[in-house]
Amino acid sequence: MPAPPTDSFHRKIDYLRMSITDRCNLRCYYCMPESGIPKIDHSEILRYEEIVRLVGIVIAMGMSKVRLTGGEPLVRRDVLSLCENISKLPGLKSISLTTNGVLLSDFAEGLFRAGIRRINVSLDTLKAERFALITKMDLFDRVWEGIMTALRVGFSPVKLNTVVMRGVNDDEIEDLARLTFEFPFHVRFIEFMPFRQLGSGKIFMSASEILERLSRTGPLETASEEESNGPALHYRFKGAPGKIGIISPVSDHFCPNCNRLRVTADGKLRTCLFSSDEIDLRGLLRQGVQDKEIAAAILTAINNKPEKHHLSNPVFRKCISRPMFSIGG
Ligand code: SAM
Repeated sequence: MPAPPTDSFHRKIDYLRMSITDRCNLRCYYCMPESGIPKIDHSEILRYEEIVRLVGIVIAMGMSKVRLTGGEPLVRRDVLSLCENISKLPGLKSISLTTNGVLLSDFAEGLFRAGIRRINVSLDTLKAERFALITKMDLFDRVWEGIMTALRVGFSPVKLNTVVMRGVNDDEIEDLARLTFEFPFHVRFIEFMPFRQLGSGKIFMSASEILERLSRTGPLETASEEESNGPALHYRFKGAPGKIGIISPVSDHFCPNCNRLRVTADGKLRTCLFSSDEIDLRGLLRQGVQDKEIAAAILTAINNKPEKHHLSNPVFRKCISRPMFSIGG
């Protein structure tokens, strides 16, 4: 396989985050309006054979890691066959999935059999009532059961992603971190990103404040991360089997190490989560063009990948074009 492509800032681009649906079975306060979203017609969503072809093209270009996300990827019909067909692609080093965990206890074994080994589960609270308030669904127990099933089936790592929101769940930072003493989880705290206008200034808690809270639980050591170019800073409590990560897209953006491309469920390529520039890959896939022409379009996008985002600029924040469920988190 060729070396991964590099962009004009010498960043190695080897990671594709592929959204496979914009639909979700939760209504997380910070992500999706409670009333739901206008549904994209199914014909506009990439078909499985189009997704597999696209992943094959980026692998042939030298990219080697794929994450399936959404919306909620497990709500898309026959998702296991997609996972299996992507896993089989020669040259792929890693396929992973991000889920809210609601359907995970049903799917964990099938996902493992389909070749997935790494899984991220969103979990913003350990309190069932609070879970229902944040997600509008009373499903904490099911999600926890899903997480336990994933551990039992053998996923490694199982990463838990917590969006930290001041006044909503910041009082649980220490309890969530303490899970790493009991389980080999990677618990990752993510700065709240202002996708929806939610009085974000008040909710936002910076990575440095999160770290300060964590250090109250016990002395933290820095830990290594085998996955190169990941956005998290890694820590560990002495003797704990699990790890802790802090992801600071807002206060200390990880742009200099950004190694990723994103494709939305409707087939738009984005080189930066916070840029509205998109390339219509679905159009190309459906025009019957050859793989090399699609690869050329992707390379052009990589060459134009912005150096950094401007999320810390409040004027910029107001014009974020698509929310996370639509881009694919
Ligand atoms: N449904 C899956 C899930 O819940 O993990 C995958 C999609 S979800 C959009 C992916 C990630 O985006 C989740 O970890 C979620 O917490 C994160 N996310 C969504 N909106 C966010 C925001 N405003 N700030 C920070 N993270 C956000």
